[in-house]
Amino acid sequence: NSAPPVLVVNGIEVIYNHVILVLKGVSLQLHEKGIVALLGGNGAGKTTTLRAISNLLKGERGEVTKGSIVLRGEPIQNLTPSDMVKRGVVQVMEGRHCFAHLTIEENLLTGAYTRKDKGEVAANLDKVYNYFPRLKTRRTSQAAYTSGGEQQMCAIGRALMANPSIILLDEPSMGLAPQIVEEVFNIVKDLNAKEGTTFLLAEQNTNMALKYADYGYIMESGRVVMDGAAADLANNEDVKEFYLGVG
Ligand code: ATP
Repeated sequence: NSAPPVLVVNGIEVIYNHVILVLKGVSLQLHEKGIVALLGGNGAGKTTTLRAISNLLKGERGEVTKGSIVLRGEPIQNLTPSDMVKRGVVQVMEGRHCFAHLTIEENLLTGAYTRKDKGEVAANLDKVYNYFPRLKTRRTSQAAYTSGGEQQMCAIGRALMANPSIILLDEPSMGLAPQIVEEVFNIVKDLNAKEGTTFLLAEQNTNMALKYADYGYIMESGRVVMDGAAADLANNEDVKEFYLGVG
């Protein structure tokens, strides 16, 4: 991807609770309209990296103690999570976090909180339903009674309601049947192609993520140990031995 990077993470260290060093110098780049996979096992530091980018570390008693994160030329470390949303960066958290007692549509509308124009909100809701026809069918159902796949779609749909240019997606495949994972990833691909949305996708499911991403970073113990074009990583012998077949 030869477009200039929209987001540059440069050598960040992250410490939790003032003592636990979890990221030990992570660097990565996102290019406009890219789909980048952030791969690695449990505890490698993928979620922490996403939280650092979306400024959600403070709530977890974490902080970036070294390095920088620059969004379209602007250092973002002193911004709040809602500043990040205003700048078009939203995170879809692992475990989906739909509000169980709200309907699918009410959940989606909570994603529009930064926007006021009613017409715009309605148009956005239509757009979400267009990408996720399943959500339209289930719009009046309470989220608690929808499937895991529908809840994942709801979480992504809610993020879309903020009109993001960059979506940080944490383990979208978690707990979903392979067929549903494909359905979700196909929608990601579609959003990327038609809306130009840039994705950073944290995944343990290396196989699936490399099928849909154009570039990948592999993390281990708080460091990036390998990166490259998704096709090259998928064919790399070490990646095959250690990561493929996982997930
Ligand atoms: P997973 O797939 O389990 O989410 P991950 O690659 O996303 O893994 P992180 O969740 O970023 O990894 O965790 C990296 C390390 O940081 C782990 O050792 C974890 O125990 C630790 N960690 C995560 N959150 C906190 C926290 N709030 N306080 C202290 N340590 C934490």
